[in-house]
Amino acid sequence: MLKALKTALQKTAFHLNWTCTYCGREVFDDGFFCEECGKKLPFNDGDICAHCGRRAPSPREYCETCAGRLTAFDIGRSVFTYEGIAADLIKKFKYENARYLAEVFAPLLVAVYRRALPAADAVVFVPMYKKDLRRRGYNQTELLAQAFSRLTGVEKLTAAEKRRSMKKQVDLGRKTRLENTENAFRIVDKKAVAGKNILILDDVTTTGATANSLARELKKSGAAKVYLLTLASVSSEKKSENQRESGLLSEKE
Ligand SMILES: [Zn+2]
Ligand SMILES: [Zn+2]
Repeated sequence: MLKALKTALQKTAFHLNWTCTYCGREVFDDGFFCEECGKKLPFNDGDICAHCGRRAPSPREYCETCAGRLTAFDIGRSVFTYEGIAADLIKKFKYENARYLAEVFAPLLVAVYRRALPAADAVVFVPMYKKDLRRRGYNQTELLAQAFSRLTGVEKLTAAEKRRSMKKQVDLGRKTRLENTENAFRIVDKKAVAGKNILILDDVTTTGATANSLARELKKSGAAKVYLLTLASVSSEKKSENQRESGLLSEKE
């Protein structure tokens, strides 16, 4: 594990619960995870697609998802591959009100941002549709952006809104899937994004269609570069296998 990521796993002073974030066992150093769980975290630090950042069988410029596609975001990177402990924690974070996990995830996002992405002028989270937000009570990507902004000083913008609820991506073919995310977002603060290098924060890169749709709108509004940073991405070789697993890989938030 890289040193920066290891340091990012250290608890901050306000985190006073000295148990493992994953298994609940007592932790005797100042980490978020016990030794055993720490070793099992699926960091995405092997061979990746140079473009979207998902794990690939060998380093390559474009994985099979990116090849032949014109993506609106310039570079994507992710902290984990979407499996094991990381997948369990992300599901908890999204669906089980585990908002505190933003504090565990944010330093890891910051470490990958500093190591693997160009500096951004502002950070934008993926907005949720109003009704969906009311139902859940919080937007997990906004919590990530808040914590990220606090740690880096990069300004957090509420620059976009979601026009409608999306159908589950996994139920759709590729063509309909792209149409499904088409015009899904509207930039509400064009002035704030014009001429800037924007970092989009999201939880999981599955097909990349959601981030791509938001990136497209940001560029239409004059954003210079758009980078994508996610907690986890589905590796290119595991994609089809994982997609069969359940609806969990849909990009419906
Ligand atoms: Zn543990
Ligand atoms: Zn790729």
